[in-house]
Amino acid sequence: GSVGVAVVALGGYAIGKVMPALAASDRCHVAAVVSGNPEKPAKVAAAYGLPEDAIYSYDNFDQIAGDDRIEAVYIVLPTGLHADWTEKAFTAGKHVMCEKPMALSSGECERMIAASEAAGKKLMIGYRCHFEPFNLRATELMREGAIGPIRMIDTAHQYMMGPTNVSENWRVVRALAGGGPLEDYGIYSLQAALYLTGEMPVSLKAATKQPANDPRFEQIFSTVTAELTFPSGAVTQLATSYNAPDGKNMIHVEGENGTLHMSPATSYDGQKMTLTRNGVSEELVPGDPNVQFARMCDHFGQAVREGTTILTPGEMGLRDVRLMEAIYTSAAEGREIKL
Ligand code: NAD
Repeated sequence: GSVGVAVVALGGYAIGKVMPALAASDRCHVAAVVSGNPEKPAKVAAAYGLPEDAIYSYDNFDQIAGDDRIEAVYIVLPTGLHADWTEKAFTAGKHVMCEKPMALSSGECERMIAASEAAGKKLMIGYRCHFEPFNLRATELMREGAIGPIRMIDTAHQYMMGPTNVSENWRVVRALAGGGPLEDYGIYSLQAALYLTGEMPVSLKAATKQPANDPRFEQIFSTVTAELTFPSGAVTQLATSYNAPDGKNMIHVEGENGTLHMSPATSYDGQKMTLTRNGVSEELVPGDPNVQFARMCDHFGQAVREGTTILTPGEMGLRDVRLMEAIYTSAAEGREIKL
């Protein structure tokens, strides 16, 4: 049967994407909700046909251990809370799907992986682009050498964040969001550079900006830029920002024999992709981006039920957090980091 999943935190992404995806998945279903809100969970539970005793709070979360309807937990909390709640879920004997970024430090990620191993339960990171037809096709094209060896990847994930401050938005709180836009949004650029080249960078050089007297950037960076060099010689220029008037969700790959342009590249929907070779451009539509959410849940459900290999495991989350740490070290020390 399908895997019963308890959804932890009923915020924007949980309500908008995670719960509909679990409901649409053949291999998972929503079995319970965990929330600190006094009214929201009853409404959400009703919408998903859950009984009242499938509503948990953060205070009685540990009791999910004895609830056989729940085989797995999907963590959709602010990032700074991922490690603690993932550990609690493993302690309760459940499998865990955790949203991206995995956590705020490599130490936290290592704790999460150790807890998964100790419990003998699966850990997967919610890296939806690994299940999205445009990004999958782009990766395939690069493996096929469609534009020849990759020379340069230019990628940006940026937008203009509206007025806010640390008392009203966890995304600008360092303890919950880390450095800010890189963990939240730039991670899509970072991941794309790795899956498109199929390589790990050998060195990187980065810079950060933190404008003074802006309540949005009291604790976090407004902008992070990085240049990553890969063993093949390919170079990635990465930019991510919450303070960019020109919104971008873009991946541009230059190969020796052509280019692949994706914009938007990693959105929920509406992806566009153009392949140019010998001066001839073609728009590619490899599938419907909307399938990414349910496919990701199917992949998790299959791993839980059949023990199949997880394509986006905790180790990948840790790999990416380590790279982000290197990016921040480079920016803070103003030097190139060899990896
Ligand atoms: P959100 O602000 O909409 O929701 C966060 C939820 O956590 C809220 O329901 C809030 O009440 C709850 N919460 C519990 N403890 C809290 C605390 N101490 N401080 C603040 N909120 C607390 O955020 P979101 O956009 O749903 O993001 C949640 C997670 O999902 C993040 O890790 C984020 O990176 C990830 N996310 C992933 C994607 C994706 O495309 N994969 C998209 C959006 C968000």
